[in-house]
Amino acid sequence: MGVEVAVRLPPLPSIRDIISLYKINALRKLSQNFLLDTRIIDRIVKTAGRIEDGYVCEVGPGPGGITRSILKRNPRRVIVIEKDKRFLPSLELLADASQGHMDIILGDVMSYKMDKVFPDDYCKPWDGPPPNIHLIGNLPFNVSTPLIIKWMKSISEKNSAWTYGRTKMTLTFQKEVAERLVAPISSDQRCRLSVMCQNWCKITHKFTIPGTAFLPKPEVDVGVVHFEPLVQPIINLPFEIVEKVVRCIFSFRQKYCVRGIETLFPKKIRVSFAKEMYEIAEVNPQTQPFRLNLEEFRRLCEAYKLICDRDPRLLKYNHRASKMELEEFEDLNNDLLSCNN
Ligand code: SAM
Repeated sequence: MGVEVAVRLPPLPSIRDIISLYKINALRKLSQNFLLDTRIIDRIVKTAGRIEDGYVCEVGPGPGGITRSILKRNPRRVIVIEKDKRFLPSLELLADASQGHMDIILGDVMSYKMDKVFPDDYCKPWDGPPPNIHLIGNLPFNVSTPLIIKWMKSISEKNSAWTYGRTKMTLTFQKEVAERLVAPISSDQRCRLSVMCQNWCKITHKFTIPGTAFLPKPEVDVGVVHFEPLVQPIINLPFEIVEKVVRCIFSFRQKYCVRGIETLFPKKIRVSFAKEMYEIAEVNPQTQPFRLNLEEFRRLCEAYKLICDRDPRLLKYNHRASKMELEEFEDLNNDLLSCNN
């Protein structure tokens, strides 16, 4: 790996000055809330771990407060992805000051592919230590939750930033979402998001930033969360299967899990197929979803896959589909019903 090169940023206008210099008013539709306190910003970047000589991809840099803190810690390169072109001039100012250590991508992080962004010599084997590549972002709340689910899928498929190994992430979420992400079994906050993310990552809620630290102040406090992909997920099955089983089971969070399990199967066969599924999985059907541990979810997903292997049409069944779409499953219903009798 290359020699460490120190980035010395020349004196720059403060982030507050940048915001007023470029007349950037926070856009509600992009949920823009800016961080100005350098101590809090430095703490977020420190949470990412050792980034010296590494590659960092920052999502949603805005006026560049976090980007400056990243650059001060001497990464090899920082790639920022920003959707709002009004930030281009201030980001270009920072890119010039970084003397070639920063690239700006104007675009949407949801559609940005990271398979070829980092150099090949930064790759680490999946079962080795994580690569010196880091994803960092203070994103709007309406983006960070779909983004983390999308990234879980990429982790499960070892593509995008995870073609390089177990790339770590440091992201902000609405405090309540941060609590859901780390929620243990039986806790009030335990939900689909907790199970999906804990299946593929070791997750730590590092600290909470009060809403008052942002400009403008959001309604809620913000949690800083760190994710490190696991070498081996607990449920080692395709993302779509895990997502479907977990989603259906949590669709009746307060009811017994059998209720959600039944929704995995077409109406006429659902009671008997659900029974078969929880019996194969050896899971008590009278357990509430938030009281199921990951091991029980694993057995349920494996049992569902076993049943679907018998008739793969079942994989396509979606109980929330429109009436017309559900009629397409009438044949499947009847076929399986006759096989079962
Ligand atoms: N990082 C800055 C900070 O901490 O002060 C800005 C944070 S602000 C909460 C979120 C930033 O993400 C904004 O600059 C916004 O324009 C950008 N953003 C929103 N949606 C985005 C998307 N889909 N892709 C990339 N950037 C996005």
